Amino acid sequence: MTLPADTDRLDRFLLPHAGVRGVRVHLRDTWQRIAASEAYPAAVARTLGEAVAASALFTAHAKVDGRLSVQLRGDGPVRALFVECTAQGTLRGLAHFDAAAAQAAGPDLRRLAGDNAVMAITIENPGPGRDPTRYQGLVGIASASLADAFETYFRQSEQLPTRLLLTATDGLCAGLMLQKLPGDPGDDDGWNRVNALFDTLREDELQAWTNDQLLRRLFNEEDAQPLGGRNLAFGCSCSRERVEGVLMSLGHAEAMAATTERGHAEVRCEFCGQRYAFDPAEVDALFTSSPVPMAAPERLQ
Ligand SMILES: [Zn+2]
Repeated sequence: MTLPADTDRLDRFLLPHAGVRGVRVHLRDTWQRIAASEAYPAAVARTLGEAVAASALFTAHAKVDGRLSVQLRGDGPVRALFVECTAQGTLRGLAHFDAAAAQAAGPDLRRLAGDNAVMAITIENPGPGRDPTRYQGLVGIASASLADAFETYFRQSEQLPTRLLLTATDGLCAGLMLQKLPGDPGDDDGWNRVNALFDTLREDELQAWTNDQLLRRLFNEEDAQPLGGRNLAFGCSCSRERVEGVLMSLGHAEAMAATTERGHAEVRCEFCGQRYAFDPAEVDALFTSSPVPMAAPERLQ
């Protein structure tokens, strides 16, 4: 398949007569980098790729100054899944899974995630103080596909009629989301008309078409208006400082014990594969060099 030139991008558009807004996400290099960090079974890779595309789609209309994440926790073959899209347009993600069970479960999300699975959509924005402001919506998994689960979420939690098509292959993932414009009813038949058009879109078309082709071929009659977009890329926020924080949270004795087997403590970032090594002297220094905070006078009273 020839890939569209405008990949690793998010593009927004408006269907003015119907009162509907849309966003298309198409990821190649970004998705290949995320998928390469683990030997994911096909069904797990597909779910992860769809979640990656979805997390980017959701940043198009929400106020995201920090980051938006989609997290799945369950008792099925996929125990946990986490994807994140930042305000800067970087994406990362991973899944924890039981390979044999995932292969046996097949593509049905309910079987992959288990009976008690819950999905959370979380937006974390920088707050006025040190603590970020946090908004979280939760949805149970009662549908076979991630797209259906998200449609349910937007209908129930946000009261926003929403349609989603998500797709992921070895080499790319993509998504299209349509949503009723809050406060703009559009013409009477608008939502039905746009839904009928949406239902004709196949996954291979979403994978192969540029944004222009999508708007022309699918929404020609609706006078679709491109609203601009932005580039997306893989990015990881791990750092040596953060890993130091993890080691310090273990406590002095346990952190030192982590150095005994190999002569150094090694922490590998699960998102990007970056390895951080600390020899015993470096671990020791974490606990001895940081100044002990002076008790504030008011606490002595
Ligand atoms: Zn990393």
